[in-house]
Amino acid sequence: MEILNIKNLDLTNKKVFIRCDFNVPMDEFGNISDDRRIRSALSTINYCLDQDCAVILASHLGRPKGEVNEKYTLLPVARRLHQLLKRDVVLCSDVVGEDALKKISKLKATEVLLLENLRYEEGETVNDSVLAKKLADMADVYINDAFGVSHRAHASVAGITQYFCDKTKAAGFLLQREIQFFSKLMTSPTRPFAAIVGGSKVSGKLEALTNLLPRVDKVFIGGGMAFTFLKQMGYNIGASLVEDDLLEDAQKVMDEAKRLGVKFYLPVDVIVADKFSEDSVSKIVTAQEIPNNWMGLDIGPATVRLYREGLNDVQTVLWNGPMGVYEMDKFARGSSKIAHFVADSYATTVVGGGDTADLVQRIGLDEEMSFISTGGGASLELLEGKILPGVASLIVKEV
Ligand code: AMP
Repeated sequence: MEILNIKNLDLTNKKVFIRCDFNVPMDEFGNISDDRRIRSALSTINYCLDQDCAVILASHLGRPKGEVNEKYTLLPVARRLHQLLKRDVVLCSDVVGEDALKKISKLKATEVLLLENLRYEEGETVNDSVLAKKLADMADVYINDAFGVSHRAHASVAGITQYFCDKTKAAGFLLQREIQFFSKLMTSPTRPFAAIVGGSKVSGKLEALTNLLPRVDKVFIGGGMAFTFLKQMGYNIGASLVEDDLLEDAQKVMDEAKRLGVKFYLPVDVIVADKFSEDSVSKIVTAQEIPNNWMGLDIGPATVRLYREGLNDVQTVLWNGPMGVYEMDKFARGSSKIAHFVADSYATTVVGGGDTADLVQRIGLDEEMSFISTGGGASLELLEGKILPGVASLIVKEV
């Protein structure tokens, strides 16, 4: 899939609207605790500034639900942008109100303006066409660089694109890279290709698993979702997380893997605990010997060894979902061991966003992976084979 490229646009001296994803985590004092999302937008912003553009930046932050709420102001983002860009960043006090319109009318080449939180406008999340038009009227060119929200049909992501033609809209560098990585993965991965799929539930990953099966050579299952598969195989899983209504689907996935010749790996041992807590009593047991009332919260050391063996010869690894409750140190070991192994391998390693990206960053291995997606929900939808609403209108039409 080819999408409209920012490099093909005539940007010189244009007013450019860049939809970014500045939805950064904040601590309890309102300080940005991780500015990676702001940093990853810099190449697109700087590229536009180098072409003497007047730049209008827009993003959401948190969920203010259509109301102005100081808690969600983009002021900390404006300050961080100022430091990173080393130039003034003017923050508007509204989104499409008097202040924004006045400031935009005065905006000159190479100046940067940031609109207030897009979700102060209730039309944003319902893809309101009036809001989309007001946003579109601000600029000559529209750039989407907000991969993290491109799976949402929101006014600044989807609705707005209809007001620009193929010569005046495109994906920014970040969005371009995300789409390229995932489409290569889904269409022409270097083989053998393995998917490591974990996380809490089968339900969250079922569509992705089903779509991945015909494309991969091996699947390694971890996390809470493994127990639905183990239960379906007739194991006693104690008090582990399970989705009884998905037992049949789990069987279908295993049958399909067998039919396609995909090697399907499940944990052979697990770390079980007597309660869901850091101060629980825990022990290693084989998958066959999970005691009643104990819950599996991580993969065990034999599984780590098995998965390493299985991953040894692969050329491409896609990892989506932790192997255990990595937020608690006690149950982070399985994920950490797998992360180190994947990072050290010579394979192309692609990490889905969200929890898996968070875990890889916590361990400090983010630089070692080939690619870490910036969007959890958006990357999952790509794995499910969906076309993201924010990308749909940026696809280059075949002529
Ligand atoms: P997901 O959002 O589906 O990718 O799931 C991520 C969450 O799964 C993380 O918050 C983990 O703590 C959780 N998780 C991983 N393994 C388990 C497990 N064995 N039991 C319960 N939750 C788990």
